[in-house]
Amino acid sequence: MLRLFERHAPDHSAHFDISHDGEVYRVALRRVSTSRRFTLRVRAATRDVLLTMPTRSSLKLAREFAERHAAWIGVRLARLPLPVAFEPNATAPLRGVDHRIVHRSGARGVVWVEKGAQGPLICVAGERPHVPRRVADFLKREARKDIEAAVQRHAKRLGLTPRRIVIRDTVSRWGSCSSTGGLNFSWRLILAPPFVLDYLAAHEVAHIRYMNHSPHYWKLLRRTFPETDRAEAWLRTHGANLHRFGAAWE
Ligand SMILES: [Zn+2]
Repeated sequence: MLRLFERHAPDHSAHFDISHDGEVYRVALRRVSTSRRFTLRVRAATRDVLLTMPTRSSLKLAREFAERHAAWIGVRLARLPLPVAFEPNATAPLRGVDHRIVHRSGARGVVWVEKGAQGPLICVAGERPHVPRRVADFLKREARKDIEAAVQRHAKRLGLTPRRIVIRDTVSRWGSCSSTGGLNFSWRLILAPPFVLDYLAAHEVAHIRYMNHSPHYWKLLRRTFPETDRAEAWLRTHGANLHRFGAAWE
């Protein structure tokens, strides 16, 4: 039903703030022509709330709906796992394995990985205030290394030529492919198990050939990455959690 009219309907985005018990919550708005009612969703990555509403409903009704559910919003936001800054003694995953961050002020070098008695360590030399930045830079360098290698491998296998690879910090997408063959990836993929990063590389490389998610596209992708479903499932379950890390220096 209604599908013909829905297809080209634009997404209008906006937001408003509501207050409850001395707290202010930001509510992002999304008008969706297919939606029949108001729905609220707490987003872990952005630590905010998304209200989806029918295209023609009024802002006033949306605000009233959000205010009626303010207590629920507060509880759900408070339950979100706390952000983890890249400070000494914090634990962050690298290639899916928890590493403890250790400050080695007197040591030479910048950042390196070491085996500790209780598990792997990310060791950081230099002055204490520089630790978070250095860990972040290290993770971004590692992300670029792994992503470039994976992109080259999949591109070679599929006979495709990627253009520029850009590593950035995106909230809404793990990767994207431009019409000119440029590939963008989130550095946070280095936190995930290697098969997840590998999957995203394959996913974007396959878009060089098909700029859509057609059956042809999925067939091509599965040729170079058969574990597509497993990787998608991992991202659905654990993806939001990757946004917890490094928040303090950003
Ligand atoms: Zn895609």
